[in-house]
Amino acid sequence: MDPPLASLLRDVPFLHSLVDALGSPLNVLLPEVVAENAERFRSVYRRHHLAGRVYFAHKANRSSALVRRLAACDPAAVGIDVASLEELRHALSCGFTGDRVMATGPKDREFLWLAARVGATVNLDSTGELEQLARLVREHGLGRVNVLARLSEFESDAGHGGAGTRVLSRRSRFGTPVAAAEELWTALERHQDTVELTGLAYHLDTTGLEEKARALERCVLMMDECRARGLAPRAVDIGGGFGVGYVADAGEWERWTTALSEAVLGVRPALTWRGHGYGLRNEGGTVRGAAALYPAHRPVAGPGYLDRLLSRPGPVLGRPPATLLLEHLNDLYVEPGRALVDQCGLSLVRVLDVRPTGDDPTRHLVRLGMNAGDVSLEEHGVLVDPVLLPRGGPRDDPAGDGPVGVHLVGNLCLEADLITRRLVYLPGLPRAGDVLAFVNTAGYAMDFHAHHAQRQPVARTVAVSSAGDAWRWCPDEDYWPLTHPQGVPA
Ligand SMILES: *Cc1c(COP(=O)(O)O)cnc(C)c1O
Repeated sequence: MDPPLASLLRDVPFLHSLVDALGSPLNVLLPEVVAENAERFRSVYRRHHLAGRVYFAHKANRSSALVRRLAACDPAAVGIDVASLEELRHALSCGFTGDRVMATGPKDREFLWLAARVGATVNLDSTGELEQLARLVREHGLGRVNVLARLSEFESDAGHGGAGTRVLSRRSRFGTPVAAAEELWTALERHQDTVELTGLAYHLDTTGLEEKARALERCVLMMDECRARGLAPRAVDIGGGFGVGYVADAGEWERWTTALSEAVLGVRPALTWRGHGYGLRNEGGTVRGAAALYPAHRPVAGPGYLDRLLSRPGPVLGRPPATLLLEHLNDLYVEPGRALVDQCGLSLVRVLDVRPTGDDPTRHLVRLGMNAGDVSLEEHGVLVDPVLLPRGGPRDDPAGDGPVGVHLVGNLCLEADLITRRLVYLPGLPRAGDVLAFVNTAGYAMDFHAHHAQRQPVARTVAVSSAGDAWRWCPDEDYWPLTHPQGVPA
C-alpha cells in the first residue's frame, strides 16, 4: 500500500464510523490518487518525448468521483475509454467533452450515434461495424467521425531469419484479424466521406511484453502501409493491461503458489475450500493444469510496464518501440483500466458471524455482510488477504495462538457464495461487529460483478480526501473536483 491508502487504513475509528452510518458493504475511493496515477503515465510519455493521450478504461470502476477527477486533468493528456452507451453518457455528464472520448467494445446503434454526434473517436471492432457507422453518419447527416481500426491476431516471423516459424498472438473476440485487414482498408477508403482513420489499435489481454511489443511494431509498419494508400492515421493505440502489483514481496507470492501445488498433491493440508485447486489438479502424483490466478507479484506494472515496453528493443525490428513511434511521427494512446485505479480504494465489510467449521475445529467460517459479487477478487484470480479492523481498537489475544485460518463466506443463501475460496489468515479470530478491509479493490473488484440477488444491498460508494490530520468524505455521486483552500472537496 502506498501512503494515502495506508494512512486511510490506519484511521480505524473513521472507517468504522463510515460502515456504521452507510452500511456494509461500503466502497471507499481516493479520487486524488487516480489523478496522480494519470500523471505517472504522463511522465513516461515525457521521458520518451511522446505525444498522445491516456484514456481511462471506464469499465474498471463505475464511480463518478474518479471520472470527474480525471475530467479535471489536462484535456490534451487525459481522456476516457467507454464501452457502453451508459458509460458514454456518464463520461459526458462528468465533464468529458466528446473529443476526449474513445468508444470501444461491442456497440449498438444508439451508442454509435451518440459517439458520432458528440465527436468521440470510435475504436472500430470490425468492418461490419464500420459499415453500420458509415450508414448512420449518412442517414443522420452527422459530421465525419474519427475512427481507429482495432486489430487482432498479429502474425509475424519469429525473429530475424526465424526459419519460417510463425507466431500468432492470442485470439480475441474483438478486432479485425491482421490477415483480414485488406478488406477493412478498402472499406475505409470507400467510406472516406463519413469516417477518417486516425489510428490503429489493439488491446491484448496478456502480461507478455514480447507479444505486446510485437503487436506495437506491426502497427507502426501498418501505419506506413495505410499512408502509402492515402489514408492518414496518426496514432497507435496499444490498449490497456499494464497491470497492478498486488503483493510487494515476490517470495511471499512464490511460497503461496508453491504451497498450493503441494496442497493439490496432498503433501500438505488443503489451503482452500474443499481442496479447490484454482485450475491445478493432481494427475497420478504430478501437478497438471495452469493456475487461473492473477500474477499478484509483478516486478513491473502500471506506468513502469509501459516504460519497459517502450524501452526494450522490439523482437522483430530490434529497436525500442518509443524510437519507432518517434521516427514515424506517431502519437501513442494507452487505455489503462486496472493500473489507473491502482491504490485508489478499498472495500469495507462488517463481520456478521464467526463459527468453527464442521470438519476442523481450528478453522472458522466468518460470515460477512457482502457477497462474492461485492468484492470479486476471486472472480479475477486476485489473491490478497483482507485487513482486520477490530471494533474498539486492537485487542489482546488471550489465547496467544497467533494467526487463525478462516474461510470468508457471503450473505447469500448459496453454497457457492464464498468471498475467498482460500483459507485466509487473520491475526486473531474476528468478532461480530469487526470490519474487514479489502484493499486496492478499485480495479474491477468493487462493482464490476455487483448484483441485486436476494435484494441484498449493493455497496454504497464514498469519496474521501485528506484534510490535514482528518479525513473528509462525501457520497461518490456528490463529489466534484472542486477544492476549497484546504484542499478539501467543497
Ligand atoms: C478492458 C479493456 C481495457 C483496460 O484493461 P486493463 O487490463 O484494466 O488495463 C482497455 N482497453 C480495452 C479495449 C479493454 O477492453
